[in-house]
Amino acid sequence: RAKGEGPGRSTIFDTSMHAQVRERIELEVALRQALADEQLYVAYQPLVRLDTGIPVGAEALVRWVHPTRGPIPPMTFIPIAEDAGLINAIGTWVRKEALRQLGVWRSEGSVTDDFYLSINVSPRQLSDPELPLIVSGEMLRYGVPAQCVALEMTESVMVDGSSVTSRVLFELRELGVKLLVDDFGTGFSALGYLRRFPVTGVKIDRSFVTGLGVNHEDDEIVRAVVAMSHALGLSVIAEGVETPLQREALWSVGVVNGQGWLWGAAVPAPEFAQRWRDAIVRSPHLPAILSDPS
Ligand code: C2E
Ligand code: MG
Ligand code: MG
Ligand code: MG
Repeated sequence: RAKGEGPGRSTIFDTSMHAQVRERIELEVALRQALADEQLYVAYQPLVRLDTGIPVGAEALVRWVHPTRGPIPPMTFIPIAEDAGLINAIGTWVRKEALRQLGVWRSEGSVTDDFYLSINVSPRQLSDPELPLIVSGEMLRYGVPAQCVALEMTESVMVDGSSVTSRVLFELRELGVKLLVDDFGTGFSALGYLRRFPVTGVKIDRSFVTGLGVNHEDDEIVRAVVAMSHALGLSVIAEGVETPLQREALWSVGVVNGQGWLWGAAVPAPEFAQRWRDAIVRSPHLPAILSDPS
């Protein structure tokens, strides 16, 4: 048959669709189990000063090691968790675990007093009117001041969010928690939300960082983003910094903080503490991220 239509082709199509659907359902079931069985853990990636490489904080990133399939990337299971209504449970677990860990690091003296953790929150979590109260309770319980907590959300939260979400953001900000726009620049949205919501900083998406120093357009986009952010009093963090060239290009346009494989990928808590303890504790006092000098 012409153009590969007909029963043969549609069978193949059905089969591969079927396989995809089955894979999804299997992962969803496995993910529920993972939550119950403690197959999840939190990995920490340093957020550093671009000039010194000294960590000022860390991003908490969830990890899942499936008992037979091995590590499953968040890009695979977070969307499933969102569709399956599991994101609240996962997000709550990650946040509590990260705040508990920061409390331990603080009491051990593994981190300085202004070291902060940046935690990803999904739109669903931010539509829970109880969230600010819950977060404030957790900070109290684990002895973590609000200035040592940042929550990362995508721009869609503010563009599509309800009035409940808006109230939640203002209440969180009221507590003193930092609010960062993750993957900044990928949402193609009007920037008005930066004025309407109590955002404290942006994280420039890796897709703009990759071409720095090589692709003139990326240099100009980042330059413009930094100028605008600073004019609005927002902090700037660059994501996915992998090369010295990118680091220098960022520094030269006034970006002070970043994260990326140039300094290290996310690692489990014990490794993080072991690897970075000396750098964090012996560092001279560095300005907190909100007081980005440039
Ligand atoms: P994200 O929040 O933008 O996190 C940054 C991602 O970039 C992480 O991928 C990190 O491992 C990766 N990365 C860091 N440095 C480099 C680098 O130099 N080069 C490259 N190529 N990649 C780098 P990861 O851990 O796979 O997470 C992917 C996404 O999954 C995150 O993107 C975030 O949107 C989501 N995610 C992770 N943990 C959580 C969580 O606890 N809750 C929610 N809601 N989402 C999460
Ligand atoms: Mg993030
Ligand atoms: Mg990010
Ligand atoms: Mg990203």
